[in-house]
Amino acid sequence: MSQSPLIPVEEAIASLLAMAQEQRLQESEPVALSEARQRVLANDLVATLDLPPWPNSAMDGYALNIDDWNGQPLAVSQRIFAGQAPQALLAGTCARIFTGAPVPEGANSVEMQENVELMEDGRVRFKQPLSVGQNIRPQGQENRAGQVLLQAGKRLGPFELAIAAAQGCTHVPVVRRPRVALLSTGDELAEPGTPLEPGCIYNSNRTLLSHWLSALGCEVIDGGILPDQPRHTRLKLEQLQQAADLILTTGGVSAGDADCLGEVLRECGRPLFWKLSIKPGKPLTVGYFGTVPVIGLPGNPTSALVTFGLLARAYLLRIQGVEDVTPLSFPVNVGFDWPKAGNRREYLRAKLEEGRAVLYPNQSSGVLLGASWADGLVEIHEGCTLQVGDTARFIPFCGLF
Ligand code: AMP
Ligand code: MG
Repeated sequence: MSQSPLIPVEEAIASLLAMAQEQRLQESEPVALSEARQRVLANDLVATLDLPPWPNSAMDGYALNIDDWNGQPLAVSQRIFAGQAPQALLAGTCARIFTGAPVPEGANSVEMQENVELMEDGRVRFKQPLSVGQNIRPQGQENRAGQVLLQAGKRLGPFELAIAAAQGCTHVPVVRRPRVALLSTGDELAEPGTPLEPGCIYNSNRTLLSHWLSALGCEVIDGGILPDQPRHTRLKLEQLQQAADLILTTGGVSAGDADCLGEVLRECGRPLFWKLSIKPGKPLTVGYFGTVPVIGLPGNPTSALVTFGLLARAYLLRIQGVEDVTPLSFPVNVGFDWPKAGNRREYLRAKLEEGRAVLYPNQSSGVLLGASWADGLVEIHEGCTLQVGDTARFIPFCGLF
């Protein structure tokens, strides 16, 4: 297996999505709007109301019927505030009306208050030409009852939840959370809060990934830190497979002696692929342990970040029913030279400055500070060189959450 050629990123994503298709979560649950952010809609959201439910005024002003109006000043026959149900407009009069208030039956135009003159006898003189429908928001302007507002598979953010609220919903049906068992492997790992023994480092991947998993709607089962021992690893995977929809690990997937996650998958599981044409993140390992999918991310924090963002994220969204899992990206001009073509797809931490992507000076996969400094990843294809001003694709981090 170690001799096998590196798998192109697109091929790895396609395999993961095919796997996700088989693992699609079927169960759903109603969740309060206040809790439903980042979850995925399980059924279409169909409007029960026209919005607006009735024609209403877009301005503070005066409503009149310009079809039976002779251009003379009009008496004010009613005042209509938002939240009130008006009377039909008395012929030959106008109505004082405020923003959001229903336009009375019989009125077909609203003039803003700045364009009228209030006469001493209380009548209103309209100073400008008027047109039918002006300053009126028609019934159903936004949507009609029965219309599909949001399709099943839509990720719910503030906009979508507000759309549900505007229909009077308190809850929305969402796909149940994927349960992800998160394991950090490595003899050198210590828990923050414990003393740091010689040769050890604190576990940062767990914090990185558990926040990211939550942002993708997942429930995190913390599998803790695992020593680099195949027996321990196998026992832990056996224990976690009952509870998890996915086992996500970091570390232990390279070809070193201590890299036992890959070894256990090969001996006791079913590896699907290993080693991608990607930098950072080459040793990414995917397979099954029993019936549970396993995604083994490399241990270097930036390798874990890149492979999670480009591959595991797509998998986790697709099992929840999200169709479009391709992260937002756009072409940018690069503010650097890239004279030496690589043989793997590179993802460089970069910031956008004046429309150009500039690189964090240290692109080592062990350096996490670059990710915080950067706005996203510049993608450089295999065999590609660049000069300042050339274009490359940019994947903003904000599109990966
Ligand atoms: P590995 O993929 O296990 O060979 O690990 C590659 C590098 O990432 C090593 O320098 C590890 O110490 C480091 N590393 C592995 N796991 C973590 C973790 N959970 N948090 C921070 N660094 C890690
Ligand atoms: Mg390790």
